Amino acid sequence: MLAVRKAEPLPGIRLEEVPDPPLPAPDEVTIQVHAAGICGSDLHVYKWGESYDFMRSRLPLTLGHEFSGTVIATGANVTNVRLNESVAVMPTSSCLRCNTCLAGDVHLCNNKKTLGLSRDGAFSRLVNVPALSCISLAPETDLTLAALLEPLSVGDNASAVGGVTFGDTVVVLGPGTIGQAIIRTASWRGASRVIAVGMNDGPRLQTALALGATDIIDLASCGSLKDGLQALMGSATVDVVFEATGHAASIPDGLSILRKGGVLVTAGIHSRPVSFDLTPFVRNQLQLRAAHGSRRKSWEAIARRIARDPDSVRPMVSLELGLTQAEEGFQRCFERDVSKVILRPE
Ligand SMILES: [Zn+2]
Ligand SMILES: [Zn+2]
Repeated sequence: MLAVRKAEPLPGIRLEEVPDPPLPAPDEVTIQVHAAGICGSDLHVYKWGESYDFMRSRLPLTLGHEFSGTVIATGANVTNVRLNESVAVMPTSSCLRCNTCLAGDVHLCNNKKTLGLSRDGAFSRLVNVPALSCISLAPETDLTLAALLEPLSVGDNASAVGGVTFGDTVVVLGPGTIGQAIIRTASWRGASRVIAVGMNDGPRLQTALALGATDIIDLASCGSLKDGLQALMGSATVDVVFEATGHAASIPDGLSILRKGGVLVTAGIHSRPVSFDLTPFVRNQLQLRAAHGSRRKSWEAIARRIARDPDSVRPMVSLELGLTQAEEGFQRCFERDVSKVILRPE
């Protein structure tokens, strides 16, 4: 079968012919992939930045960790999913043995393994996955939209970490996929004002509006974040800021617009250290939190949402391409004129 692979620790990806996976292990299932999204982390892996050097020893490896498909083979011990069932797959599995897993915080496992980053992923027709990672989907679910479950669950987890609640005014820095997922889920969680902020980001900010943002700010046309907010709201303080840019300057910028006691959630992957002034941080009792990955309960809640209301997330998908067009898909993502690009292995 064809697979989109990271072959060596250098920039780029390769489309290669690889053997089909073996029959699934006793606790695994084989998934026939229907749709798999290109993620921001796949872009980092493509460019081969420092933050992904941990993958070096695992190459070559098939990429792809945001996906949906159909169960076409089950291992001997599998009881939670059936043959021919439609599923989305949580890419990260926990060891269930380390101290954080045993304490019940399986999403914080010390030995996490991620499909498409630490073992072969879903940019291919078939992939073997742990059965417990499967999320069963209602039969009417649009399987292309189900490939959005991963980023939406990451966004929902970030919204939960930020404590977003009814009536909050929220700023989301960065209108990429995770920013869009935070916008969607913060608005589901009751935020009354959700302001999406980008930099030369016209198309993705329009998508943000379609996903529930109440306002957009393009920093390219308004100078500083503070000025943009002042012009929009007549004040420059908000309850919760989400940073989904990975740019160091977003942290002090985000802190500067919080009300006293406000919360900044960092969800971006940063390749540089950050410095900011701790005096106003302490005096204003600001809270700096980190969100990464997702929990099963977000997946299950969002799977039900997507089945019930597919149009609420459909604007996230900009482009669907065959696996052989993967390079084009990656390049379109780098150009930032698209939101989610979905690859279709069939
Ligand atoms: Zn991802
Ligand atoms: Zn663990």
